[in-house]
Formats: sequence, C-alpha cells, structure tokens
Amino acid sequence: MTTRETHDYDVLVIGAGGAGLRAAIEASAAGAKVGVICKSLLGKAHTVMAEGGVAAALAHVDPKDSWKVHFRDTMLGGKLLNHWRMAQLHAQEAPERVRELERWGAVFDRTQDGRILQRNFGGHSAPRLAHVGDRTGLEMIRTLQDEGVHRGFDVFMECTVTKLLKSDGRVVGCFAYRRENGLAAGVAVPVDAVTASGSGLDPDISVANARLQAARVAATRGMNIDQVLALVNQNTTGRTWGFLGEPGVNVLELNLALDGK
Ligand SMILES: Cc1cc2nc3c(=O)[nH]c(=O)nc-3n(C[C@H](O)[C@H](O)[C@H](O)COP(=O)(O)OP(=O)(O)OC[C@H]3O[C@@H](n4cnc5c(N)ncnc54)[C@H](O)[C@@H]3O)c2cc1C
Repeated sequence: MTTRETHDYDVLVIGAGGAGLRAAIEASAAGAKVGVICKSLLGKAHTVMAEGGVAAALAHVDPKDSWKVHFRDTMLGGKLLNHWRMAQLHAQEAPERVRELERWGAVFDRTQDGRILQRNFGGHSAPRLAHVGDRTGLEMIRTLQDEGVHRGFDVFMECTVTKLLKSDGRVVGCFAYRRENGLAAGVAVPVDAVTASGSGLDPDISVANARLQAARVAATRGMNIDQVLALVNQNTTGRTWGFLGEPGVNVLELNLALDGK
C-alpha cells in the first residue's frame, strides 16, 4: 500500500484564501508550475466570510480620498505598530487590485453613474469599501478561483501542511497529510520559491497539534496516520485520545508508544 506521495513544483503556495490564490495567479502568469495546498476545501477560507468589503482609495464616493489618507487611517488603526512599508504598499496598490478583480469578472455594487460603489467602515475616514452586498468575500474567492482555474495550477484540497522543509535555512518544500485518509505528502520546490499565505500557518504552533505529530511519525515509519493511531492505541491501552487531547504531545511520546514502551 502506498503511504506517501511526493510532488515537485516551481512555486508552492500554502493557503487558498485571497492572498494565496492571488499569489498563485501571479506565479502561474510568470510561467511557473504552481501547486496550491489548502487544509480545507477550495473556497472555504476566511476570505469567503468577509462581508464589509475591500478597502481601496478609489475616491468614487469621496473625491478627497487618496492612498495617503488610507495609509494614515491604516497606521492610526494599528496604533503605529504596523509595518509601515506594508501599509503603504497596501494603500497604494489596493485600487488596482479592485479594478483587477472587476476585470476578472467580480460584479461590485455600483454608484448611480455606474462606477464601483464604496461605503463607510470602521477605522476608515472616507467611504472606501468596494463591496458586493454583504457577500464581498464570496465574490472575491469566486473570481480568483475562476481566474486561477484558467491559469491551470494544481490544487491539493483538505491537505494540511505540518512542516516546512528547509535546506541551509531556506524553505525548499513542505510536508503535509491528506485529511481524507491520512496519506503523507511531501512537496518539493526550488530554494526561495515557497509562498506561505493565510494568517494561521505557523509550523512551530502546528506541531502542538497531536494529530499533526502523528502525521510526522507516520511519514518516518512509512505508515498513515490511522495506522499510527491504531497502534498507539493498542500499545497504550486506550490512551491515544488522552494523548491527542494534550496539546503538548510530541513525536517522541508517539514513537515510544508505538514501540510499546
Ligand atoms: C467573518 C469575517 C468577516 C470579515 N470581514 C472583512 C471585511 O469586510 N473586509 C476585510 O478586509 N476583511 C474582512 N475579514 C478579514 C479577512 O477576511 C481576512 O483578513 C482575509 O480573508 C485573510 O485572507 P488570507 O488569504 O490571508 O487567509 P484565509 O482566507 O484565512 O486563507 C487561509 C488559507 O490557508 C489555509 N491554511 C491554513 N493553515 C494551513 C495548513 N497548515 N496547511 C494547509 N493550508 C492551510 C486555509 O485552508 C486557507 O485556504 C473578515 C474575516 C472574517 C472571519
């Protein structure tokens, strides 16, 4: 039985929310062979839940709005703790990102004269949010997925990344497991070509999750997660779920349990 699969890509994007899909589209457009991994179903990311809209100083409703005002609002909203350069790029590039979404098929609400409508939102000193009723995120994801599908990148759904693989301190791939069957998957990319996206991916935090630890043990032993869990269960007289309830469970414990110690 095959218990491990491997894949090679020029660029690997971890996460298929707005950030990940947009990155994957850009990499595909540059001619790279791109793989996208998401731990849930494609389209099921936080991005799809965004209701308020996309902040971009298009100045369609308030002509005095500009990227500089947006930048100021963003820095003040972050109590000046924000990375100012990121906030600047965000404010400067947001209008073009919204126009780009429109070119790719997003249908935003309109002003009386047919331009993209903008509305007020907390922290913004001007009506700045381009929106689609209360389902802006859904329209964003739908649009980015449609564009991405035409670009032709591969998507690994329900595939959870548990470890970024490094060589000489540089990320060169990742290790993941398939939620459906626990099958381990290694994805390799050239040095410097990994894009990590989404807000939740932190391998050091992820390893606190016992199921992810089991996936690692499974990979090193050529097994799948369910086999590991079943064997640990046998060797620890039903303590597996005790293990799995513990955020601190580690690979060593699982290995010792597997070895019957
Ligand atoms: C209810 C709600 C309303 C919101 N409203 C607004 C709004 O009106 N305007 C606004 O600007 N923002 C809003 N936000 C915030 C906004 O939605 C997020 O900041 C934005 O969508 C984040 O996008 P992202 O692509 O970085 O991450 P996400 O959309 O969260 O995508 C993360 C991706 O990473 C994947 N992933 C994570 N960990 C792993 C792993 N270990 N292995 C594999 N894949 C992994 C996930 O499956 C997912 O595909 C809202 C958020 C919520 C929840």
